[in-house]
Amino acid sequence: MNPVAHAVESPASEALNQVPPLTNYNLFLTDATLVQAVESEGAAWARQQISELGQLLGTEETQRWGFDANENQPVLHTHDRFGNRRDEVVFHPAWHNLMRTSVAHKVHSLPWVEKRAGAHVARAALMMLTAQNEAGHTCPISMTFSGVAALQAEPELARQWEPMILSSEYDSRYRPALEKTGALMGMGMTEKQGGSDVRANTTRAERIGNSREYLITGHKWFCSAPMCDAFLILAQAPKGLSCFFLPRWTPSGERNHFHIQRLKQKMGNRSNASSEVEFHNAWAHLVGEEGRGVSTIIEMVHHTRLDCVIGSTALMRQAVTQAVHHARHRKTFGKLLMDQPLMRNVLADLLLESEAATLLMVRLAHSFDARESDPQERAFGRIAAAIGKYWLCKRACVQVGEALECLGGNGYVEECVMPRLYREAPLNSIWEGSGNVICLDILRALDKDPASLEALIHELRRNHGADAALDKFTQDVETQLMQAHRQGDVEAQAQARSLAENLALALQAGLLVRHSSSAAAQAFINSRLKRDHGYTFGTLPGSADLTPILQLV
Ligand SMILES: Cc1cc2nc3c(=O)[nH]c(=O)nc-3n(C[C@H](O)[C@H](O)[C@H](O)COP(=O)(O)OP(=O)(O)OC[C@H]3O[C@@H](n4cnc5c(N)ncnc54)[C@H](O)[C@@H]3O)c2cc1C
Repeated sequence: MNPVAHAVESPASEALNQVPPLTNYNLFLTDATLVQAVESEGAAWARQQISELGQLLGTEETQRWGFDANENQPVLHTHDRFGNRRDEVVFHPAWHNLMRTSVAHKVHSLPWVEKRAGAHVARAALMMLTAQNEAGHTCPISMTFSGVAALQAEPELARQWEPMILSSEYDSRYRPALEKTGALMGMGMTEKQGGSDVRANTTRAERIGNSREYLITGHKWFCSAPMCDAFLILAQAPKGLSCFFLPRWTPSGERNHFHIQRLKQKMGNRSNASSEVEFHNAWAHLVGEEGRGVSTIIEMVHHTRLDCVIGSTALMRQAVTQAVHHARHRKTFGKLLMDQPLMRNVLADLLLESEAATLLMVRLAHSFDARESDPQERAFGRIAAAIGKYWLCKRACVQVGEALECLGGNGYVEECVMPRLYREAPLNSIWEGSGNVICLDILRALDKDPASLEALIHELRRNHGADAALDKFTQDVETQLMQAHRQGDVEAQAQARSLAENLALALQAGLLVRHSSSAAAQAFINSRLKRDHGYTFGTLPGSADLTPILQLV
């Protein structure tokens, strides 16, 4: 007998009961919640362009880029072969494909180039789709998008740089930006001795004559996407901590003294390069007032927080989509997993979390759209960005972990997207204000910005009378809010997570009541507000109507 033929026929090599790869689908059109939210929040005009990206991201080729960019990590070249500084990071072509696609679809620019109602919502949908395919590259995409907001504080610089930054052409060449067809922006705040506490920054800025130009000396302990063309950084100037625009090349066309020391060995987010950098008399331009660095860069931070919300929502949606797909094809004990009662409870619970996240994300994006014309929406967005960032980033970590388990052992191997989603999830929670810091920021907003408190209460009361349990919960949250005001600092800080969590749940429940099926709204209220739920997913009460929820994928 031919041994090769025998091996092929061996039962051991047969792959029975395997799930087909989830490919060739439209990430947008298959997400009814997102489609509906985009329409109801004023971005129906963008449906076609969002759908085009959704279709592209569902192809096998585009999915492959995500795997290739993570399996072939960026490589740093500090010096050339003669010992001159080179400070370049080289990426796999798949990274460039991902970047080119997102830039071409204006994920970095849409609200700035299409100044129309719904542009932030449309862009949030685009970002949510691309982050489902590959999250690492959304870091420079997000920083470029949010950097534009802070650059407005320096109109002349904005006028000069915006044509490159808002271009839909991705130009990866390491050249002076004025010679390029497109440019990207990054951010440098975190230093060795402190990240959250940016006022502890030690990097110094020395003014050149009477100009708005400075020489910067110091370091940044985390500087992601160092191949961006320019960075907003913080440094100590004579009048205090200030914000600076620091390009990779000086205006006279020389390499700036921006030295990449090494790349971080990260647990996830591996396609993206995150570096440690040093500045040795690097040229930079002041942005905004000297000494007011935090309030200048906060505009950038505010927009990147929106992106952490979008990024976490994306991880949850992709994770549960993969889990449901698996359950619809995999049989155990004579039945499809989808028909096993306990798996139905787990999947419905995961979907509920994802649905509530999507609604909160779109509501938040809408407040960014309305912030120019409506002060109440501006105030709401200020505090809701922090509430949403805290809660959705935390929920993504557990929701993705549970979704991974739905795939059994196949969810734990690297040929599958789940390990990447799982490793990415904690990152959104760490950067742009780690969990505690975000909760303290909520307290600060409540204390210093009465308009935020008012806008929040207005939003919480929008559903008054729709559901008795929601009314009661909302009332309790309002009491908790008032207590936070009255309490001493120490007590209020110690309870800040509890407050943030309850605020997020009340907002999500209200959105589900307004926009979702009554089955989903009731299941959420009973499990999350009335606490008829365990500590893990899959503990929805017996009264929950799972069938409509399971149709959300
Ligand atoms: C992959 C990756 C990429 C990054 N890229 C960038 C980048 O491009 N640019 C950049 O500037 N930074 C970047 N960061 C850094 C990130 O923003 C910081 O790590 C983050 O802000 C936290 O700062 P820290 O690490 O110094 O932690 P710390 O500030 O030391 O905080 C440690 C912990 O203590 C908590 N904490 C802090 N203060 C308090 C308090 N008063 N009360 C209670 N708890 C508190 C925090 O919530 C946190 O959990 C990146 C980080 C990662 C992981």
